[in-house]
Amino acid sequence: MQENNPADQATVSLADVPRGSRELPTPPVGAALVIKAAGDPNVSLAELSKLISTEPGLTTALLRLANSPAYGNGRPVKSVSQAALFLGTRVIRNISVSHVLRSMTAKTDAGGLDLSAFWEDSLRRACAGLVLARHAGFEDPSEVFTVGLIQELGVLMLAVQYPEHGGALEGLRTRPSYERLVRERELFGLTHPEVFVRLARTWGLPADLVDAVGHHHEDAPVLTQRRTARLAQLARAADAIADVTQTNAMGETVLRARRIVDGLESRKPLSLDFLIDEAAAEMVAQSSELEIRVAEQPTYDALMETANTALLNISLSYEDLTRRLELALAEKEELAKKLKASNDALRRLATIDPLTGVGNRRSFTESLDRVLDELARSGRPLTILSLDLDHFKQVNDGFGHAGGDDVLVEVGERLRRATRATDVVARLGGEEFGVLLPECGETDGQMVAERIRDGIGGKPMRCRDGREVAVTVSVGGVTLTRRVPGDDALRCCDEALYESKDAGRDRVTWGGPL
Ligand code: GH3
Ligand code: MG
Ligand code: MG
Repeated sequence: MQENNPADQATVSLADVPRGSRELPTPPVGAALVIKAAGDPNVSLAELSKLISTEPGLTTALLRLANSPAYGNGRPVKSVSQAALFLGTRVIRNISVSHVLRSMTAKTDAGGLDLSAFWEDSLRRACAGLVLARHAGFEDPSEVFTVGLIQELGVLMLAVQYPEHGGALEGLRTRPSYERLVRERELFGLTHPEVFVRLARTWGLPADLVDAVGHHHEDAPVLTQRRTARLAQLARAADAIADVTQTNAMGETVLRARRIVDGLESRKPLSLDFLIDEAAAEMVAQSSELEIRVAEQPTYDALMETANTALLNISLSYEDLTRRLELALAEKEELAKKLKASNDALRRLATIDPLTGVGNRRSFTESLDRVLDELARSGRPLTILSLDLDHFKQVNDGFGHAGGDDVLVEVGERLRRATRATDVVARLGGEEFGVLLPECGETDGQMVAERIRDGIGGKPMRCRDGREVAVTVSVGGVTLTRRVPGDDALRCCDEALYESKDAGRDRVTWGGPL
């Protein structure tokens, strides 16, 4: 993710900076000279000290810092030259930069932008950078501190130039960085790192610091100096950490900060919660040194509590949504089940004989077509049986219609028992039944037919009134070894059945061949 692309930063002059309704302040000449001299290896420490002494505010700031617990070693530092010796030129340069910029902007009118809150935010970045630099093993933590202190200056510059938008900039302070950058571009046509770079160069600020600030919102800044690139990366991470605090761990700021911190080259593993807490402690220590008023700094735990509440709300509404979705799905599933059940019922009604539970004539005809297709495909024989109960009228007469029904049910049951699951048993009407035996030749078919005849006639059946009734069955059979029209096959079967009837009933007659 490229957060910002300050493409044309190489050649800038004050003329490039869009003119707002105000003139921007320029650094005092003396301080600008200190900054320049501190970055110049040819300038001696004595010469630098002399320059510093001409800037009373800077002298005080340097002495205070040299005596602070962060830098001091317990021995009081009383003179500028002592401080210069003790702190080193780079630290002097950094202190000068932040001091100059602080004093330049201290009394400016930034419209609705709260200046003390602005410096608190800057100090937050500075302290996060300092803590990061120490743990990541950056050779000069104070430089990262300085970058942190000035990396948001572009915001202040925009507010000074466009006081009418100060309120908008103030509102953006507590928004995540990606949102700030987008909004800045909308309002001003350029973002705070871009504004900073354009002005800072004309002020003669050190190029490495300017570059680091200019690229502090980029994923992979293209910077030739490795040290400057590293500064920019640390500034970016400091910004991400500050984002977590300032936005009250809003949205994805925690995840983003963790991702950026994890991606940092570091001597030892960095943990976000530890960094936030240590940066908060550092802020309290540094605020008095830099005379920046800071409010009580939230701890990582406090931030996470807020974040978790927000997350909880999000996940609650998510859960609610999921629950409703699940309900809708369950309802849909229930409907689908009901639909399937009624479809199944319809299909059963359409294919099952309601009295006996075996297939009806319609399913028998359908099955006959299917097994005839199979025969055509596989060439394996098919046996068809036609059955008619003998003298069934007499059963009805003797046991009543209900008794007759009981017999029909029992016949269906015995037919099922005498056949395989893949065979087809159907009641074709009245006391007539049909059986299809796929992949069954004549010998086996006749065996099954005898088994059926014996199964029905061999043992009396019990009616619901407890009386026993003996019925016999006449069977006609045919075995097909090739496909013929179903009607022809059934007719042949029926003719064989009539032959059984004619021959005295309770027997099996074979028809064909067809
Ligand atoms: P056979 O076939 O041996 O020549 O004599 P049959 O008495 O069985 O012959 P027929 O076809 O004349 O009579 C069939 C009888 O089956 C007539 C009818 O009362 C009876 N029947 C048909 N459907 C049902 C039914 O659903 N329930 C009962 N209980 N009887 C039925
Ligand atoms: Mg009959
Ligand atoms: Mg009949």
